[in-house]
Amino acid sequence: MVAMLKGPIKLICSGCGKEQDYDRDIDDDIPNCVKTIVSQCPECNGGDFGSEIWLDVVGREIDWETGKPFQT
Ligand SMILES: [Zn+2]
Repeated sequence: MVAMLKGPIKLICSGCGKEQDYDRDIDDDIPNCVKTIVSQCPECNGGDFGSEIWLDVVGREIDWETGKPFQT
């Protein structure tokens, strides 16, 4: 059984550590298992697109292709 997460995704900036909530309903491409996205805020990335790291509720990195944790 896959736990269906409710509530917003937490966005964390890898540069300054600033956190904000992100409404998961905005983006259907993000798998439901994703709880946290580590990226960079506009102040830290200088306007370039920052790479995102998707993490699930226990901190495993989620593969963008499969929507499942990477096998380690
Ligand atoms: Zn930042």
